Amino acid sequence: FFGTIEKRILIVGLDASGKTTTLYWLKEGVCASTIPTIGFNFETVRYKNTNFSIWDVGGLPEIQSLWRHYYQGTEGLIFVVDSYDKERLGEASDALFKVLSSEELIKVPLLVLANKQDLPNPIKVSEIVDKLNLHSIKDREWFIQATSGITGEGLFEGLEWLRTVLN
Ligand code: GDP
Repeated sequence: FFGTIEKRILIVGLDASGKTTTLYWLKEGVCASTIPTIGFNFETVRYKNTNFSIWDVGGLPEIQSLWRHYYQGTEGLIFVVDSYDKERLGEASDALFKVLSSEELIKVPLLVLANKQDLPNPIKVSEIVDKLNLHSIKDREWFIQATSGITGEGLFEGLEWLRTVLN
């Protein structure tokens, strides 16, 4: 008997990085049009034997302080980065490390989605790893996946990593 496994996932990232688009692509397998997330979105996505309960909280600077209310019980963290916005990679890194420093998220695996890779000449994944300073993360498992919330490219590969690391 193969039971279903429930996993609670939190998606964070700067505003306009593509969190909501990604969540709805996963939910519907299609690209949904979105509006900036003010409250939060919640969806359950079934992938293989795992039900991911995914919380997408808004990324605007003035509501980043609300992210911590969603930390408790989180088993996997997804951080979405805009692979087109070089100017905000430093800000994205600061936001990421602030999240990772939370006690409630100790050892929670981190999946970074280098999103918007469908656009021409996106920032390369290796450069995103450098600019976000991902190699300094030693206290948890992490993985970076190139994705597009529009075409869905890479999203199931990302979920597969999370599923494997959480099972
Ligand atoms: P959020 O604030 O992080 O939830 O970002 P949204 O999901 O609302 O996306 C912000 C904008 O970026 C919207 O106009 C989306 O259509 C666009 N967008 C999101 N993901 C992608 C992507 O992978 N590729 C492209 N080309 N545009 C994207």
